[in-house]
Amino acid sequence: MLRFDIMNFRYINESYGHDRADKVLMATIKEFEKVFNPQKELCVRVNSDQFVALVVNDMEYEEKYMKYLKGISDEANEAQIRYPIRLKVGMYQIRKEDQNIDLMIDRANAARKSIDITANVLTATYSDNIISNMRKVDAIESEMENSLKKGEFRVFIQPKWDTVKDEIIGGEALVRWIKNDGSMVFPSDFIPVFESNGFIENLDFYMLEQLCIKMKEMRKDEKNYKFFPVSVNQSRVLINNPDYVKNVEKILKRYDTDVSLIQLEITENLFFDQREKMVEVINQLKKLGLELAMDDFGSGYSSLNILKDVPFDILKIDKDFFDETFISKASTVILRKIFEMATELGIDVICEGVETKEQVEMLKGFGCHAVQGYFYGKPMPVDEFIEKYCLVK
Ligand code: C2E
Ligand code: MG
Ligand code: MG
Repeated sequence: MLRFDIMNFRYINESYGHDRADKVLMATIKEFEKVFNPQKELCVRVNSDQFVALVVNDMEYEEKYMKYLKGISDEANEAQIRYPIRLKVGMYQIRKEDQNIDLMIDRANAARKSIDITANVLTATYSDNIISNMRKVDAIESEMENSLKKGEFRVFIQPKWDTVKDEIIGGEALVRWIKNDGSMVFPSDFIPVFESNGFIENLDFYMLEQLCIKMKEMRKDEKNYKFFPVSVNQSRVLINNPDYVKNVEKILKRYDTDVSLIQLEITENLFFDQREKMVEVINQLKKLGLELAMDDFGSGYSSLNILKDVPFDILKIDKDFFDETFISKASTVILRKIFEMATELGIDVICEGVETKEQVEMLKGFGCHAVQGYFYGKPMPVDEFIEKYCLVK
């Protein structure tokens, strides 16, 4: 049992128009009937770009599948679609005792949903692994709301450093889920879950609010503090919330926040089909006086084009660039050019994930003086950050 969809079909639809995109949908069925055996194998469309197929899982399957994929790509090419056609396929191996077709489709679908679209492999088979992952997701989802109310999500802050003056210039707020039993969960384990179920919105507003509350407390406190701009991560999910900007504004006002001390980080990833919306929202946020940073530049499919289209103030270069194995001649050339270009465009650059003295020196050589990374400091609880960097003793 296969349950599959066409990668970024929405993008194909929007860029090439419905008529041409429909040709791809038709080819998905037509080519199947050409390559597979219509006597015993079947492919149907569920809705939009979602399909279910029954195939014989024998020695020839791989070859047939490649031929099938090529057939669809050729048809797309003929329709002048220059975008690569890729299918995201979840499989379920049907057993003799299986009776319930819906259940088989659900399992194939669970496998499909488990596929990490940033990886190269776009096929997954339903397995124990997928079941155990689904259980983990269930556990996270059953706890998250209560945990937020109980204050189990904590603000950690990692310093940002000026390497020339050798002093702190700001921080990034990073969430940690510390359960009441003392165990800590890292964002990579729960952020993806929150992004797919929407809970990330609550968390992102919560983090911003906690930060504003802290800043207000510091202003009211009799002790003397220095203030640094702190950035908060904002999920792309927020971009689609029509009340997003209004909610940010409300939070900022509620605590009389000095907006020049708040920056928002947004990751530019695969969803390039939302660029216009993103530009609009970013401009509204900038009107509130906030600075916007583009996070994880260079980690995925980010393109330099986005700098021209989206008015970011800050470019955060991902640690991938500093990966020991990755510092090749090419990447140093690219890095240097990025700095040059960003500087000319009036965009600040900061490099994250800087772990060694060598990296610091290399970056200085390119004229990049702002860094964030374990070399200068790990993320620490917000109170520890305040005590260490903000309190004037
Ligand atoms: P990010 O925003 O790119 O944050 C930087 C990540 O790199 C952090 O991981 C940080 O701990 C890690 N890091 C910093 N310096 C170094 C270094 O020198 N070496 C290495 N190997 N790693 C370093 P963390 O805290 O696990 O967060 C992971 C990601 O989760 C973040 O990546 C961000 O995308 C997301 N995230 C964290 N907190 C939030 C949040 O409140 N809201 C949203 N939407 N996303 C968040
Ligand atoms: Mg970030
Ligand atoms: Mg980052």
